[in-house]
This record gives sequence, structure tokens and C-alpha cells, in this order.
Amino acid sequence: MSKQISVIGTGYVGLVTGTGLADFGNRVICVDVDKAKIDMLNNGQIPIYEPGLKELVDKNFREGRLSFTTDIGRAIKETEVVFIGVGTPSKDNGEADLSYVETVVESIAKNLDGYKVIVTKSTVPVGTNRWIKQAIIEEAGKEDFDVVSNPEFLREGRAVHDVFHPDRVVIGYESERAKEIIQDIYKALYIIETPFLFCNLETAELIKYACNAFLATKITFINQIANLCEAVGADVHKVAKGMGMDGRISPKFLHPGPGYGGSCFPKDTKALVDIGNRYNVSMSLVKEVVSSNEKQKARMVQKLEKLFEGELKDKRIGILGLAFKAETDDMRESPSIIVIEELLKRGAKVVAHDPQAMENAKAIFGDSIEYADSEYKAMNNSDAIMILTEWNQYRSLDLEMAKKLMKGNIILDTRNLIELERARELGFICEGVGRK
Ligand code: NAD
Repeated sequence: MSKQISVIGTGYVGLVTGTGLADFGNRVICVDVDKAKIDMLNNGQIPIYEPGLKELVDKNFREGRLSFTTDIGRAIKETEVVFIGVGTPSKDNGEADLSYVETVVESIAKNLDGYKVIVTKSTVPVGTNRWIKQAIIEEAGKEDFDVVSNPEFLREGRAVHDVFHPDRVVIGYESERAKEIIQDIYKALYIIETPFLFCNLETAELIKYACNAFLATKITFINQIANLCEAVGADVHKVAKGMGMDGRISPKFLHPGPGYGGSCFPKDTKALVDIGNRYNVSMSLVKEVVSSNEKQKARMVQKLEKLFEGELKDKRIGILGLAFKAETDDMRESPSIIVIEELLKRGAKVVAHDPQAMENAKAIFGDSIEYADSEYKAMNNSDAIMILTEWNQYRSLDLEMAKKLMKGNIILDTRNLIELERARELGFICEGVGRK
């Protein structure tokens, strides 16, 4: 039977999840405090770039299964299942900031008017779901509800695919009644034999952090190997290929680059270290990953300095790619932020291009950098170009055109997209990461 669901927080996760749940046949109300976002959605516009999302939102909105509101009280009252999908960013000390979750929990407690299942999709530290349960009991004075931990694993840029084809669905639960309701909501995934993992609340919470920390570790590992490859004259792509052929390792997440970024890995690795500290269990490996990743971003600027054999002052640097990865407009913790800040500190002039993240970049850099509406405009008259995001359109750069447009001849390709040999034949001084 289809369920009445509200999803609180209509960001990258909330909007995609809410739309997916609507497409499974449920009736979904997506809620956000950001009125501009809700107005856009009610007017058929999508506030984020996520391939395939607009078509899916349009379809479910048109067919009456999906609606958008800022009225959280009404949404909670009208639905039996309430998903929490608000942000859980890092505080300065690395701890997860739960203030958005706390505000939502207060609203839920205020509007609890009958049995409900509260499902936490936001990534939250171990113990948070148990705290949510207690906070609602104390605030509402009622126990007629259940709490479920259902962490999200979607990848930005592939989020629509991931919502319909998740590798697994993790459900942390305590009551059979809640478990059955969640199973019903996800019936469409059951039918295609998606694996479901049922466990207690703490286990579900920890699975999410363990996954992100492990993936961040894998990226950091190959980045360190790439740095070693540069020193010893090995090719990191061949090393990664050789490693990936081992079934125990898998070839995924073995791509070297300028360091991981995004809205999850940086904050979740730091939060895991913090959780370890709280329970007096050393997360020293993850701590090292966090610090090594910061060094990797800074290393990219040092590499550029080396290619110039001198100062970057007054050099014009064309930046290709601002988003933390391809197929998203998300700039949160993108390596490009650190790289550009470091370039500006050294007196360089930056002109940047990204196919999707320009608006978000403007909110970060303002007029401290120039913006180009194509990669070729970004390289026009530049002393060097630096590729920072693996957008497909940068894979087939017209290097002859680049040669004509650029003032200088330096390319730093931090994503290993271009053929270095061919670029060198054309007279470029160029480097990738982990290949000489
Ligand atoms: P986001 O910042 O894109 O979206 C959060 C939304 O919540 C915003 O639109 C904000 O306005 C809204 N909001 C804040 N307070 C609110 C309130 N009181 N009521 C209603 N709406 C409110 O964040 P996101 O990237 O979607 O991440 C959400 C959670 O999902 C985080 O915990 C994150 O770690 C987790 N997660 C994210 C991803 C990802 O790829 N982005 C993947 C898996 C898990």
C-alpha cells in the first residue's frame, strides 16, 4: 500500500530521495525552510544540477504524488512517515553539527498527532537516533512513534540512478511495526532484489561513516601511491589497474587526483575521528587520511610552482573545473577552493570555468577571480591551465587551439585527462598526477 511521506530538507539528498519515493508510488511532501528553493520547485525549476532529476520531478509532480512546501507542521501532520534529510555539516572542531536535525526534531515533537515513523536519512553520529527518540518522548510526552536509521549512499552526479539501483538499503530499527512500514515504502526495490541489511540503530549509523571513511582512505592511498610514482618513475594508472585486478581490492576509487572534496567525505571523516575520541577509541588511520588529503590539495599548487620554476605572482592561471567532481554543481569542500585561494595568496590571477558550478563559485570567490563561459575562454591569454575536475568535455581538449590561445605553455592536469605525450609534442610543459 502506498504511504504518505514527508521529507524534511529538500537538498541533494532530500529532493532525490523524495522524488524517488514518489516514483515508487508513495505520496511525498518535500519540505524546506528555504522558501526560494520551494518556490522554484513549485514553478518547475530544479535548484541543483543532477542529471535526470528534472524529468523525474516533473513526472511525479504532474501525476500528483510529489508536492513542495515550507509548512513543516502541515507536512508532518499529514504524513505517517517523516524522513529527516537536512544537512549535518562540520563544526570547526570536526564534530558533526546537529543543529538542523535538532530543529526538525523539535518540529516533529510539536506536530506528533498519531503513530509515525521518523526515518533519519541525514548522516548522523552514533547515538543520534537514540537521542532523537528520547528528545521526542520528552518534548511531546508521547511514545506513539518509532525511529529508524536509514542512511543514504547516493552519489551526486549519479543520484537518480542510485535511488533506483542502490547497492544495498541499510535499515537500523527497533520495532517490527516500523520495519514493515519501511519495507512497504521500499517495495519497488524489494521486487528487483536489492539487498536489505537490517540492524540496530547504532550499527546503521556507523555503517555510513565506515563506508565514507573507507572510500576516502582508498582515494588517499592511491594519491600517496601517485606521489611515490612521480618520485620513482612509475605510472600510477598501471599500478591502480594492477591493484584493481585483484578481486579483494576492486578497481573503484583508485583514481589519483587533487584530493577528495564534496559535502560528505571531508565532514564524515572528521566526524568519525570525533566519534572515536568521544568513545576513547583511536581513529588514527582516518585522522591521517584527513591530514594527508589537505596536503594533497596544497601539493597541486606546489606542483604548479615547480612547473613555472619560480613565482606565481602576476601569472594568469586558467582553471578548468570548480565542482568537487564531474556531473554536479556542488562546490562544498571542493579542492578547487583551496587551490584557488593559494593561487590568489601568491599573487596569481585566476580565470575559471566549470560547466555547472559557476553560480556556486561566484558565491564563494565573488570578484576575486574572473569567470569564463567556456574552457577556451579560461585559457585565453593564460600563462598556465590547471584541470581540477574530470568533466568529460575537458577530456577532449583541443590542444592545438589551447596552444594558440595561451600566452604560456604550462598545463597541470590534476585529473590525468589529457595525453601528456601529445601535449609535449605540441610544446607544452605539462604534468599529471602520478605519471611522469
Ligand atoms: P543540502 O545542504 O543539499 O540540503 C539540506 C536542506 O535542508 C537544505 O535545502 C536546507 O535549506 C534544508 N533545511 C535545513 N534546516 C531545515 C529545517 N529545519 N526544515 C526544513 N529544511 C531544512 O544537504 P545534502 O547534501 O542533501 O545532505 C543532507 C544529509 O544527507 C547530510 O547529512 C549528508 O551528510 C547526507 N548525505 C549527503 C549525500 C550527498 O551526496 N549530498 C549523500 C549521502 C548522504
